[in-house]
Amino acid sequence: MRAQVLIFLGAPGAGKGTQATEASKEFGIPQISTGEILREAVARRMPLGLAAKAKMEQGELVPDEVVCGIVEDRVSRTDCRNGFILDGFPRTVAQAVFLDDMLERRGLGKPLVVNLQVESDVLLKRLTGRRTCPVCGKIYNIYFSPPRQDELCDVDGTPLQSRADDNEGSIRRRLEAYERQTRPLIDYYRERTLLHETDGNREPPVIARDLAGELRYS
Ligand code: AMP
Repeated sequence: MRAQVLIFLGAPGAGKGTQATEASKEFGIPQISTGEILREAVARRMPLGLAAKAKMEQGELVPDEVVCGIVEDRVSRTDCRNGFILDGFPRTVAQAVFLDDMLERRGLGKPLVVNLQVESDVLLKRLTGRRTCPVCGKIYNIYFSPPRQDELCDVDGTPLQSRADDNEGSIRRRLEAYERQTRPLIDYYRERTLLHETDGNREPPVIARDLAGELRYS
């Protein structure tokens, strides 16, 4: 892959995290998930988490300067010197402009942007059906990839949990935030000829295989 920086764009539930994890293994560069970093800060009761918690639970975006600070910080670490994968960032035009400037400052060149297109009924099932094991982190979906025993982890038998923001009200607001604030980024990157469209309705391993092949020659 020529581009050193890969961005996964898509609505909540489009599969950005899953595909970013696969691409990270495939290309040997780290995955940076602003949502994961924020959730960890909330769980550890760090000041960053306290500031972000209410917004996240309501399904609203955390302020640009907070997430831009997280990304700048994470990218400064040595494991990012050969590139990295962004999952859940940028989400606003202001974040995309910040990222352009940061990549130029760091001499990292233009990113390659993968847009995962997913139909809204699939998105809803992915979000409402998502369950995670709080012990080993394995992710399930009660519709698409259920555990063998209802609501229990296959690996360690722990009761599965839903993300705090995977409830109906929060999901609706996250989808609204996506439409209003993040969807404009598709045109932003299309105009800069950096956009790669992908059918995200397919099974995750099929998408991952397809992408690995295509990105290798991008
Ligand atoms: P995610 O795990 O990517 O779905 O993110 C979960 C939540 O974290 C979002 O609903 C936002 O509240 C917050 N968040 C994550 N990334 C960003 C970002 N780039 N800009 C603003 N808020 C973010």
